[in-house]
Amino acid sequence: MKDGPEYGFDTLQIHAGARPDPATGARQTPIYQTTAYVFRDADHAAALFNLQEVGYIYSRLTNPTVAALQERVATLEGGVGAVCCSSGHAAQIMALFPLMGPGKNIVASTRLYGGTVTQFSQTIKRFGWSCTFVDFDDLDAVKAAIDDDTRAVFCESIANPGGYITDLDAVAKIADDAGLPLIVDNTSATPYLCRPIEHGATLVVHSLTKYLTGNGTVTGGVVVDSGKFDWTASDKFPSMSEPEPAYHGLKFAETFGPLAFTFHSIAVGLRDLGMTLNPQAAHYTLMGIETLSLRMQKHVENAMEVASWLEGHAAVEKVTYAGLPSSPYNDRVAKICPKGAGALFTIALKGGYDACVKFVDSLEIFSHVANLGDTRSLVIHSASTTHRQLTREQQEAAGAAPNVVRISIGIEDPEDLKADLDRALNAVM
Ligand SMILES: *Cc1c(COP(=O)(O)O)cnc(C)c1O
Repeated sequence: MKDGPEYGFDTLQIHAGARPDPATGARQTPIYQTTAYVFRDADHAAALFNLQEVGYIYSRLTNPTVAALQERVATLEGGVGAVCCSSGHAAQIMALFPLMGPGKNIVASTRLYGGTVTQFSQTIKRFGWSCTFVDFDDLDAVKAAIDDDTRAVFCESIANPGGYITDLDAVAKIADDAGLPLIVDNTSATPYLCRPIEHGATLVVHSLTKYLTGNGTVTGGVVVDSGKFDWTASDKFPSMSEPEPAYHGLKFAETFGPLAFTFHSIAVGLRDLGMTLNPQAAHYTLMGIETLSLRMQKHVENAMEVASWLEGHAAVEKVTYAGLPSSPYNDRVAKICPKGAGALFTIALKGGYDACVKFVDSLEIFSHVANLGDTRSLVIHSASTTHRQLTREQQEAAGAAPNVVRISIGIEDPEDLKADLDRALNAVM
């Protein structure tokens, strides 16, 4: 089938990027479990290596199963291309790699997945990069944090762990005024609930590990390119605008136009960093995405019901779900994620740290795991786990204070989820 804007989301989540296998007619996308691809002849090989012809060389760079997934996610996000990576964290490095250099920085929201805070505050320093964290609800602070060495602005659409919603349009305007790309981590929302490119994002990153695969079987990531950023408008992005020595002086922006970032990510990023997604994982994720809209509807419905009920529980001090009228982010739902505020939020327990630890140990249906976005309902006490490496100040800023438990609502029967939570909450009172 043709992929096109004339098809709706439910059609595209099944068909985009997938065609009957040209060799066998197989209707489902085969798992191309191969490392290399035979060249037609020496000229064909040379053309592929010179990037004069697009084709398959070696699975560190490209693989047909992975390519189907790249096209599917790019289509669902409204981008022009995508590159899959071995994890969500790999996708973040892959997104930054063509933009950054020693001495350059990014400006990122304080409300991020805990692992991202660690990656940006500690590990990227080893590359000579740095990150300034600011509260993205304070737009003046975002503006003020940008300097001459800033190369990207980074936030999550529905942000970890509290399910806070970022005003993407306002942040995109600031990035655009500064001539910088906005990178949005859309993991918690998925393109079903939020399409950051429509709000001005340049690049969208995902952990495929979460809702896109949806059942906790895969570790993977993807970077989607909007194709809308002009990499030649300033001298800030030489990887894209200047000659690339490893390809005989080819200029990516000039040669590939709106696909410059995607081609660079594959031809240089995957080639040299090697953070490649394997075809088996791509297959599982393709299967997951086929039911994305159905799952997300149920996730949102359950989250709304459970969060409203939790808000009235005597052991609970606060529920952060943006779908609730009590949330300061409730008015952003209609604008940013009109089909719902996702299924990730936190609760603060009146009993503090000790109550949280006892609560997570008392649950039966909910699993205490470092994951989210699964068909199964999950909880984690962030302060003693994912956000453990953070200072108390960083924990508070990230919405992961010691009395806070993060909840990822699955697609089970909501009555069973409430009964399980009730049992565990009563145990700590
Ligand atoms: C899980 C997650 C990541 C990291 O993804 P991995 O696949 O675990 O590397 C990044 N951002 C968000 C919002 C996540 O939930």
